[in-house]
Amino acid sequence: MRFAPIHVLPAKKGVDARDKRGPDVERSVSGRYTDGMSPKSALKATSEPVLSVVSARPTLLLAWYDRHRRKLPWRAAPGETSDPYRVWLSEIMLQQTTVKAVGPYFEKFLARWPEVTALGNASQDDVLRMWAGLGYYSRARNLYACAVAVTREHGGVFPDTEEGLRALPGIGPYTAAAIAAIAFDRHTMPVDGNIERVVSRLFAVEQELPQAKPLIRQLAATLLANSRAGDSAQALMDLGASICTPKKPACALCPFTDDCTARALGTQETFPRKAPKKSGTLRRGAAFVVTRGDELLVRSRPEKGLLGGMTEVPGSEWRAEQDDAAAKQQAPELKGLSRWQRKLGVVTHVFTHFPLELVVYTAKAGARTRAPKGMRWVPIATLADEALPNVMRKVIAHALSSGRSS
Ligand code: SF4
Repeated sequence: MRFAPIHVLPAKKGVDARDKRGPDVERSVSGRYTDGMSPKSALKATSEPVLSVVSARPTLLLAWYDRHRRKLPWRAAPGETSDPYRVWLSEIMLQQTTVKAVGPYFEKFLARWPEVTALGNASQDDVLRMWAGLGYYSRARNLYACAVAVTREHGGVFPDTEEGLRALPGIGPYTAAAIAAIAFDRHTMPVDGNIERVVSRLFAVEQELPQAKPLIRQLAATLLANSRAGDSAQALMDLGASICTPKKPACALCPFTDDCTARALGTQETFPRKAPKKSGTLRRGAAFVVTRGDELLVRSRPEKGLLGGMTEVPGSEWRAEQDDAAAKQQAPELKGLSRWQRKLGVVTHVFTHFPLELVVYTAKAGARTRAPKGMRWVPIATLADEALPNVMRKVIAHALSSGRSS
């Protein structure tokens, strides 16, 4: 079955959009969604002229999903009921992280805490340690807070509505919609980056992100099947991940191949439209790696703020105008310490809002040197058990490498 591309303006007099192939592209061009178009009028314009095409999309999508769905550790097999705990755990882990990176963490968490009540009765330190390496650590703290809330306030049962889910720590509008649709089959469409891409291409949404989000959400909702809402959402996620990829989408394999405005225009890769990215200002600082035999000096970061509660080696503030001499003055003071050696090179790391450059100093402490207040010695052999963020792993690896110092 083939479909004419969607148009949003009335067809020219004497031209039937559904059976004349020639002018379709031209109509698609005129039919792109523009900044001035409200979501309501865009939807109205979409659905009126070609209602049969619009109403067929959810069915096409589910038919594709039934043949090509990805097997994921947290996903229920066909005919099985979804486990809200698995769905929630995977959705929190997948925020700003890839499926590939999440897989091993998901399995580890599930093996250690098979039920939400087990996670809710764990200690936050254990959860942070298990999370270490997955990044965006505020998610781990919220994950734990949510498990505690579900355990203590909801008897270990997740609320089954978007509203109820949104009241829990760390669950925003997207995650609430995803859990409601996938775990409880609520009629709602969560819109993640993959779905944004598919929808913005299918309808050729000209408006830039993030302003286009409300329009994309409403257009995405037109792809929901009357039943199987969770499968509709997962189908769009899979389509975005495996077919409608950012570069070189495999349009020939797509269920919307004859119905996609961007494809008709040959402009698939230009969607979604985005405002140019502003990169944050580079910040600089110093990290101080002190060893005492086979031990390393560490401290915990404050609970609130960037990398809250995570383990780090002592360091200076991270500032845009930092200079090396000022940073070095913030070195920890210990009795019986050797001279500070500066490792050649710098450690770089990119956070969401800014890039960071750290110079690394090393020193050795005597066997009886006590840790300064708020710091502690940990065996280097057990560092893997510490909640070390990636930036600190890089710093320690650089410090302990055999590279030259000055
Ligand atoms: S036809 Fe191509 S661009 Fe359009 S939704 Fe499918 S994969 Fe994406």
